[in-house]
Amino acid sequence: MKTWPILIVPFAEEAASSWVDRVCRTFRAPWEEISRTWCRGPLSDVALDAGRAPVDIETMAEVSGVDQSSLRSMFLESQFRGVQRALHLKRGTIEERLGWQSWQPSDSLPLLRACPVCLREKGAFYYRLSWRFKVIRTCQQHKCWLLFANQVGDQARFRGDACGFLAHALALDKISLQTLSEGKAIFSDATLPAARWFLKFLPPLITHLEADYYPKHHPGIRYICAESERLGRLFKS
Ligand SMILES: [Zn+2]
Repeated sequence: MKTWPILIVPFAEEAASSWVDRVCRTFRAPWEEISRTWCRGPLSDVALDAGRAPVDIETMAEVSGVDQSSLRSMFLESQFRGVQRALHLKRGTIEERLGWQSWQPSDSLPLLRACPVCLREKGAFYYRLSWRFKVIRTCQQHKCWLLFANQVGDQARFRGDACGFLAHALALDKISLQTLSEGKAIFSDATLPAARWFLKFLPPLITHLEADYYPKHHPGIRYICAESERLGRLFKS
């Protein structure tokens, strides 16, 4: 078995599917060709990120030259154990449960969502696993919005933060990310079960804090609240 000629190191918090996409682009090879040696059967990007795909990590490390722990760090199990635990209790596929959406850097699937500063810094198209959660709207590292290509107008409108709108979203996302990781939320000095955070707290906080800027009936608000409720149901016992 040959090791790839170029070492492509995963970026911090990158999704496994994003890394495979970068590999495919670098070698100008189709996804199936790249994954054939370390994955039995067809491979969807969501199943890969969620750790549901029949991936042979040892072989993957051998051909890519990337160590096994770095490869494992790109999966849901490493980054968001709270979700992983919740999903194990439920029936249905991970794809159905998460309903993930992200952006794919291809002609057929244009850019959906990413932090523009992260992309600029890395000089590459990629996505973090957390950006696949529709409820997460900001980049905690750069304190900015994730950009939706089809909502450029809205994002531009909210780019400025004169009213603290971005600060609210960053604070809410911070709690949501912690909840997705640990299965519980720390909010106002209280520890809440994840279901309670997503179902009872987050939707009204979003509508109350943001309704002055985004009207309550705005599709963006409805979208985020629906996503919050969907994640909450995952954690409900
Ligand atoms: Zn960023």
